[in-house]
Amino acid sequence: MQRAAKVALWIVALLALAAALAWWQRGPITVALMARQVQVLTAVADPLAALPDGLHVGLCGAGSPFPDELRSGPCTAVVAGRRLFIFDSGSGAGRNIARMRLNAGQIEALFFTHYHSDHIDGLGELMLQRWIQRTAQQPLPVYGPAGLEQVLQGFNDAYALDKGYRTAHHGAAVAPPAGFGGQARPFEIDAASGRRVLVAEPDLEIVAFAVDHGPIHPAVGYRIRYKDRSLVISGDTSKSAAVAREAQGVDLLVHEALSPQLLGLLEQGFSQAGRQNLAQIMHDVLNYHTTPEEAAAIAQAAGVKALVFNHIVPPLPLSGLEPVFLQRAGQIYAGPLRIGADGDWFTLPAGSAAVAMGRRP
Ligand SMILES: [Zn+2]
Ligand SMILES: [Zn+2]
Repeated sequence: MQRAAKVALWIVALLALAAALAWWQRGPITVALMARQVQVLTAVADPLAALPDGLHVGLCGAGSPFPDELRSGPCTAVVAGRRLFIFDSGSGAGRNIARMRLNAGQIEALFFTHYHSDHIDGLGELMLQRWIQRTAQQPLPVYGPAGLEQVLQGFNDAYALDKGYRTAHHGAAVAPPAGFGGQARPFEIDAASGRRVLVAEPDLEIVAFAVDHGPIHPAVGYRIRYKDRSLVISGDTSKSAAVAREAQGVDLLVHEALSPQLLGLLEQGFSQAGRQNLAQIMHDVLNYHTTPEEAAAIAQAAGVKALVFNHIVPPLPLSGLEPVFLQRAGQIYAGPLRIGADGDWFTLPAGSAAVAMGRRP
């Protein structure tokens, strides 16, 4: 045998031996890797401090009521400087916030767009995480239009037993009873202007505005400005003149989107299966949501710098469905656009025109 062949044989044998050893020791190896990962995840008590000054937007839920592996219930995290605000708390919100390496204990306030179940069903866990991770002395301030007290009272009541368990087990120093749950800050939309200013500080402005999600009233979207950067969250709405008005010149528009064509497939499928209730619902939801093309037209007319779709209906389990979902949205809107997914992260540095679209690393 030639010398080169012998060397190659030895290398293969050694590699096979190394692989066998690694397999044999896979338990200790994975524990060591896990310990390193835990260090990465837990070492940063204040993840907001590591971010550049500006406005940051994270999708802690880009989906809808549909079961979707890539997109859980609606939730948008907004970091304004060093302050963390959450808009809607769909199921998975608390877990996604942790997965995105944000500290739920740093949530300053939560804002609801409306009270459809998919926008509120993660509230209990979100409030619990925020309470327990910061030793909160005050309940979470929760802003929302009329109906807020009823929703919040329900969640506070449902979690009251758990509150007792946590304080009994961990002690009042870790789980102080006074900090549990949420405190309602309901607001009314001004009938004349169609909006309500909720936060008006030199560097931070948060405005709620009425959108078109009838028969659900009220339903609102939000406009947020931090220093010279801004975004609009549409909330659930059909094509809305209010969104178009509020989105004028903003850096980022986070707009809900529904594909009638793909939803039609589900309606047909449910109908053929004899599941008439679901078929009817697939049909009914068409009239209070926005298509990607409609949202693109709003973004183009308003001159927004970037567009991201959330509240994606229906789920898009195959990437080949994305062009079908978008239709002509990419031609209608000239700027960068993206179909949002859980973990997407947008950075708008202060004093700059840049909009970085990526993932929370
Ligand atoms: Zn919804
Ligand atoms: Zn809705």
